[in-house]
Amino acid sequence: MVNLLERTSRAALDLLFPARCALCRSAGSMLCNACTDMLPIADGARCQRCWTPVTRRSVCVYCRVDNEIAYTTIRAPFILEEGARTLVHALKYEGMSALGEPMGALMAASVGTSADLVVPVPLHRGRQRSRGYNQAAMLGRHLALAAGLAFDARAATRIRATKPLARTMHRDERHDIVAGAFAATSARVEGRSILLVDDVVTTGATLGACATALLHAGATSVRCVTFARAG
Ligand SMILES: [Zn+2]
Ligand SMILES: [Zn+2]
Repeated sequence: MVNLLERTSRAALDLLFPARCALCRSAGSMLCNACTDMLPIADGARCQRCWTPVTRRSVCVYCRVDNEIAYTTIRAPFILEEGARTLVHALKYEGMSALGEPMGALMAASVGTSADLVVPVPLHRGRQRSRGYNQAAMLGRHLALAAGLAFDARAATRIRATKPLARTMHRDERHDIVAGAFAATSARVEGRSILLVDDVVTTGATLGACATALLHAGATSVRCVTFARAG
C-alpha cells in the first residue's frame, strides 16, 4: 500500500514537475547527455553468443558445450554497474516507467540488424499487476519505435510464476527454475525473426527459456538484447 501511494504520488509529481535526469536530477530530460556518456559500456572481449566476458576465445566455455541454447545471440550495450544499475533499478522498482524511452533508444542504437518483431520477456500476471507495468515491455516498445520495428507485448506469456533468480545461484539451478515457464502464440510469431528484449541478462537462463518457447511456436530465430549485462 505504501508502495502504491509512493508510486502514485511520484507519478503525480512527474506531471507537475516535468523531466529531471534520473541520475543527476538536472532539469530537461529523463536522462541527460552527460550522464548517458558516463554509462559503463560493455566493451572488452565478450562471448559472441551470450555476451559474457571472455579472456581469449570468442565463444565462452558454456556456449561451447551447450548445444541446446535457443537464442542466436545476446547483446547489451552496458554492464550493470554505476549509472546503468541505477537506471535499471529506477525503471523496475521505483515506478519510473518513462525511463523506458531513453533506455530503449540506447538499446536500439546498439542493435545492428533488423528483426520482424520485437517481443518483451513477459512478467507473470501477478507480478505485472503489483508493479503496474512490465519493464521489459517499456524498453521493447521504445526500442521498436526508435528502430522502426514492429512490437508485440502479447506474443509471449509467462505461464508459471517463478521465484526471482539470484546471482549466487548456480547456472543449472537458474536454468531449472525458468525451464517451461514461458509459452508463445504461433499466430503472432510463426515464420518471424524475433528480437527478444529484457532489462538485464545474467546467465541468459530466462532469455533461453523464453527463446525456446518462441521457437516452439514457429519463430525462425531469436536474438536477444538487454539494457545491461550483470558481469
Ligand atoms: Zn544527468
Ligand atoms: Zn557464451
